[in-house]
Amino acid sequence: MVDYNLLPYQQELLEKARAFTKEHITPHAVELDRADEIPMDLLQKAYEAGLMNLHIPKEAGGPGYSLLDETLVSESTGYGDAGCATAIMCNNLAFAPLVIGATIEQLQKYIKPLITGEKVKLGAFCLTEREAGSDAAATKTMAVKEGDEWVINGRKCWITNSPKADIFTVFAQTDPSKGYKGMAVFMVPKSAGVEIGHIENKIGQKASAQAEVIFENVYVPEDCLVGEVGKGFHIAMKTLDKTRAGIAAIASGVAQRCVDEASKFAITRKQFGTKIAKFQGIGFMLADMQARALAAHHLTRYAAWLADNHINNSTESAIAKFVASDNAMQNAIDAIQIMGGYGYAEEYGMGVIFRGAKLLQIYEGTNQVQRLVVMSNLKKRAKTLDTGFKLHYDGVDAPDHTWLPEERKK
Ligand SMILES: Cc1cc2nc3c(=O)[nH]c(=O)nc-3n(C[C@H](O)[C@H](O)[C@H](O)COP(=O)(O)OP(=O)(O)OC[C@H]3O[C@@H](n4cnc5c(N)ncnc54)[C@H](O)[C@@H]3O)c2cc1C
Repeated sequence: MVDYNLLPYQQELLEKARAFTKEHITPHAVELDRADEIPMDLLQKAYEAGLMNLHIPKEAGGPGYSLLDETLVSESTGYGDAGCATAIMCNNLAFAPLVIGATIEQLQKYIKPLITGEKVKLGAFCLTEREAGSDAAATKTMAVKEGDEWVINGRKCWITNSPKADIFTVFAQTDPSKGYKGMAVFMVPKSAGVEIGHIENKIGQKASAQAEVIFENVYVPEDCLVGEVGKGFHIAMKTLDKTRAGIAAIASGVAQRCVDEASKFAITRKQFGTKIAKFQGIGFMLADMQARALAAHHLTRYAAWLADNHINNSTESAIAKFVASDNAMQNAIDAIQIMGGYGYAEEYGMGVIFRGAKLLQIYEGTNQVQRLVVMSNLKKRAKTLDTGFKLHYDGVDAPDHTWLPEERKK
């Protein structure tokens, strides 16, 4: 695939991410999956290589990269292993609400020390609760103002990188009577008394770890509030509009990896005295797989480009996320089919890719929720549309037949 329209620094970043993946992720993916814990050594190397904390502004010690730049890294690392890519990308997710809502002074005080030291430090994005999954506005975690401090109580679950995190971005309710308009976001350092509960036991992406995060009378200073009280849900949605392109990028990497592994296998494996790539049934599958990977790649780039150019990308990032992850999943299924028993054997590595792909359709908003986002945006757009075509239905009234020839109006 030709990487068109990239600036020289972006080409450099992409090449660095690809080289990192080839050396540190792809050959170790099966073993990292078996280890089933956050690969801190790998994250340290990714941090030193400048592949983390990508969108923190320069004034706060970060590289100030764009969303497109982030997708270059996530697509490359996703090609090696979706679990490692998730663990590496998680700081981008955790810090995105802060980049959106916090002041530079807050970023300098709370985030700069974490991203400029010698050791990698992790952030965790805490939105989901047991009763608030897709329905994120049902958040029960409470934040109450006491003097010049906020006291936080509640439990989050499924929080990526939380077992090793140093700072938690927490969405909490300040006034339940206001529903989602009562939500707020806080930066909560681990040292404030955050506890880690049950570690989730997953079927894939085992190189990233998720756990319950418990807040029991956790006090934080006033300046840990990000943005205004009441804007928490809005910041969460703005964050996800951005970061969904990151998941699409990982999915795009997975989709292409499946094409590459399956086609490499098909040009060497012989049955009935011929290479299986010569069977049209296999060749057509490979062609469809490449089409899916290419679609995932371009939708990701488009969603990121829109965000970087300050154009609302809510529809496009949702589409990029669900198309890319559905395509990655289908490609993983097809790659295993093409590789037959070897695809199904754990040691050939397709199992890790297959199990990792499934999560891409679930986290950061399930693919059903992405379709809800698109549907809701489409309905708003339809109200303003004038296609020039006269036939229309107004509620339950009969259609306007004024355009019909006289003899057919009767
Ligand atoms: C490995 C992993 C990592 C994660 N990391 C994080 C993290 O770092 N931070 C964080 O905050 N969260 C995280 N999550 C949580 C994740 O975002 C949620 O799992 C996801 O949003 C879905 O919520 P749920 O699991 O409660 O499913 P539910 O919301 O209960 O959904 C169950 C099913 O119902 C469907 N459904 C729900 N509502 C509708 C509807 N209105 N219309 C149609 N279908 C619907 C869903 O699509 C799904 O198929 C993670 C989850 C996993 C599995």
